[in-house]
Amino acid sequence: MRRKTAFISHPDYLDHDTGFGHPERPARLEAIHARLDQSEINRSLVRLEPRSATTDEIGFAHTDEHIDSIRRIAESGGGRVDYDTAVSAKSYDIALLSAGAVLRAVDAVADGETDNAFACVRPPGHHATPNRAMGFCLFNNVAVAARYAQRVKGLERVLIIDWDVHHGNGTQDVFYGDGSVFYFSIHQHPLYPGTGMAHEVGEGGGNGATLNIPVPAGSNDDDYVEAFEQRLIPAATAFNPDLVIVSAGFDAHEKDPLASVYVTTEGFGRLTDLVMRLADDCCGGRLVSALEGGYSLEGVSESVVKHLEHLGA
Ligand SMILES: [Zn+2]
Repeated sequence: MRRKTAFISHPDYLDHDTGFGHPERPARLEAIHARLDQSEINRSLVRLEPRSATTDEIGFAHTDEHIDSIRRIAESGGGRVDYDTAVSAKSYDIALLSAGAVLRAVDAVADGETDNAFACVRPPGHHATPNRAMGFCLFNNVAVAARYAQRVKGLERVLIIDWDVHHGNGTQDVFYGDGSVFYFSIHQHPLYPGTGMAHEVGEGGGNGATLNIPVPAGSNDDDYVEAFEQRLIPAATAFNPDLVIVSAGFDAHEKDPLASVYVTTEGFGRLTDLVMRLADDCCGGRLVSALEGGYSLEGVSESVVKHLEHLGA
């Protein structure tokens, strides 16, 4: 039997304006939607509307000062937080709607409305730390959703699998001392933001609940599958999560202009199968996935459709 897969997106995500020539651009989502419209899986998806996350929910992973600072920049007409990271006039509201889509995905999966769910959002989130926007990210959508799953939906243990080609320093920061959220990242190293060394394993109560696999430029599908099979799956099975959340960036794709890892579109299908099997074994298949990076329009759109085909298989 096919699985029920939710697809959650919103036209407003196109209005987050990062400026001319920025790689994290509205055309990414337009390319995904266009390719999805032509695909077989399109008709099988359960389309759900996102809602806006509340400031209390964003506060699960961020300081009030950080939330206020993004709101103020947007209210003043927009500006840059750093060289890479833009806030346009509408970006505060859109960032709340981006995080809210992942919360809606958690609701769908936790309540059994669908088997799994994909939030097709921007801005992305995994570089945003508790008190800082960076790396195209304003609020950490996945970190907020993991806390929401725990505090609102009563799911105690959450596994975050981050296969974006960049290390999710923000997500790691949020949960570094917390053993109830296991953070796994596979990422090209050296590459922005420079964190995510193998010796970064968590601290205090979170010691051992962070697993970083830095991989060199030139790594391919087989390297990724091997890391998942030999490192992620044993650690994650021992952790025994109640929910799996994927920080699904597709910038490890061979066509991506921002990195030099060569995962193929098929490769993302294989990785999807592996995380689904893990979720089946641990938590009844409960899996939420959220878009992070992916800057080749062809690479990201093909890979998202492949990801959805496998989620719904
Ligand atoms: Zn990335």
